[in-house]
Amino acid sequence: MAKKPKKEKKHKGRWELYDASGTLKRKNTSCPKCGQGTFMAKHKDRLTCGKCSYSEFVSKKAEEKKEVKEEKPADKK
Ligand SMILES: [Zn+2]
Repeated sequence: MAKKPKKEKKHKGRWELYDASGTLKRKNTSCPKCGQGTFMAKHKDRLTCGKCSYSEFVSKKAEEKKEVKEEKPADKK
């Protein structure tokens, strides 16, 4: 077995979502339902909130915001 070269882990954290140079800025868009503390995850054609699964579709032709039915994730116990 040939050893695979170790990939350097990129540390990702919440601090990356903020730009603290000078004034504090939020880079990502925040969830309208959860408030400013929760950011929307960027996808190819949409923004999704991981907390309440609110998703916003981003269409290129017209910037129309469509709200999708709330899909609650299955409860894990
Ligand atoms: Zn949310």
